[in-house]
Amino acid sequence: MHEVIKMEEAGLCVPDFPSIPFIKGDGIGPEIWEQAQRIFDQAVYLTYQGNKAVAWRELLAGQAAFEQTGSYLPEETLEAIKESLVAIKGPLTTPIGEGIRSLNVTLRQTLDLYVCMRPVRYFKGVPSPVKHPEWTDMVVFRENTEDIYAGIEFAAQSVEAQKLITFLAEEFKITTIRFPETSAIGIKPISSEGSKRLVRAAIEYALENKKQFLTLVHKGNIMKFTEGGFKKWGYEVANEEFADQTFTYTTFDTIKTQLGEEAAKQALKKAQHEQKLIVKDCIADIFLEEIIARPKEHQVIATMNLNGDYISDALAAQVGGVGISPGANINLQTGHAIFEATHGTAPKFAGKNKVNPCSVLLSGVLMFRYIGWHDVADRIEHAIEHAIASKSVTFDFASQLEEAKEVSLSEFSQQIFEQL
Ligand code: NAD
Repeated sequence: MHEVIKMEEAGLCVPDFPSIPFIKGDGIGPEIWEQAQRIFDQAVYLTYQGNKAVAWRELLAGQAAFEQTGSYLPEETLEAIKESLVAIKGPLTTPIGEGIRSLNVTLRQTLDLYVCMRPVRYFKGVPSPVKHPEWTDMVVFRENTEDIYAGIEFAAQSVEAQKLITFLAEEFKITTIRFPETSAIGIKPISSEGSKRLVRAAIEYALENKKQFLTLVHKGNIMKFTEGGFKKWGYEVANEEFADQTFTYTTFDTIKTQLGEEAAKQALKKAQHEQKLIVKDCIADIFLEEIIARPKEHQVIATMNLNGDYISDALAAQVGGVGISPGANINLQTGHAIFEATHGTAPKFAGKNKVNPCSVLLSGVLMFRYIGWHDVADRIEHAIEHAIASKSVTFDFASQLEEAKEVSLSEFSQQIFEQL
């Protein structure tokens, strides 16, 4: 009996045979999906012996959808994801042309998928540009609906830009736009609601997974009310909603002012001893230095949309690049979640049976964890670990490893299948 996953008061309600939609994606998407689905089904079968299974349902989006239906994102696809709550997708070509928005951004905004979650960990044997890639083990929570991604931007010398610049000059006496005649202009909305729901999700994750540190990453020294607001609201969530389980640097500062630095350090030590989550903040530029110099000091990251975009890719590069990094876009209130490869459609490799399937596979691992099928997730993750360690890997890894043998996408996938 196939049923859809539902969100109930107690949380996600997952039937034994859930109907889960998938979008193969464009370019390398279909050939990766073919391998991934085989691996997912086998992992579920080995874990539950037929007592549970995924009823996959194919949905169209991207180039394939356009060719068959004339729409890049058919209404039926959106409706099916809305109904099924959980979906997984391969990469989609972003249609080029004015007025056409990125399909990924449309999906995120339509379903209000406000958490973009990107775990970044190292798999032994993956080529990395840093000396100790194994020190990087972080989960990035990127706010997914606000910031300059709201798309409020006007071209230089457009009527809109000129109107806005004149309004700012006349109403707010703004004199700091250096070249008002030729400036393009954009708007950056950051709200307390948007910031708090994201930080809340990150803190809950950190507590559930028994992490020691959570870092709020921002540029509040320059953007005092937007990025500074995010930091302030983030600390408020920790102090007001998780007071018993966290120790924040705002508390540290209060103790320092009232009782001196030594007392603040003692309070921090006590909180660490009690295994409370330490909530700190870091300016974005310093953070990019710290993740290279001292990555062990950061575990769960909560940040805004643009910072999160840069940070996730910088961290992914440290542990082996986008070919192996998974992602999830989630709304924790409605339960809607789309799991996706973080790489694009790699058109030059499409149909060549060459590319690395790990990003979609690890997105599946995240999906199985999200629906509570942790044993399936562990099984796939271990199989990937073993397959990479064998040094018979796809070209992207093989070209950077000594004594490695290059194998095709299907051969590499078969190794993972056999290790399940
Ligand atoms: P891309 O990720 O497709 O390629 C970047 C580089 O990574 C290329 O050298 C590519 O060959 C390599 N690469 C990507 N996936 C790989 C894999 N699985 N194994 C080995 N190597 C891999 O990015 P791009 O070239 O900037 O974008 C191509 C298209 O994909 C564009 O239309 C873009 O809009 C789209 N895109 C979609 C998504 C998404 O759907 N989530 C994300 C990024 C880009």
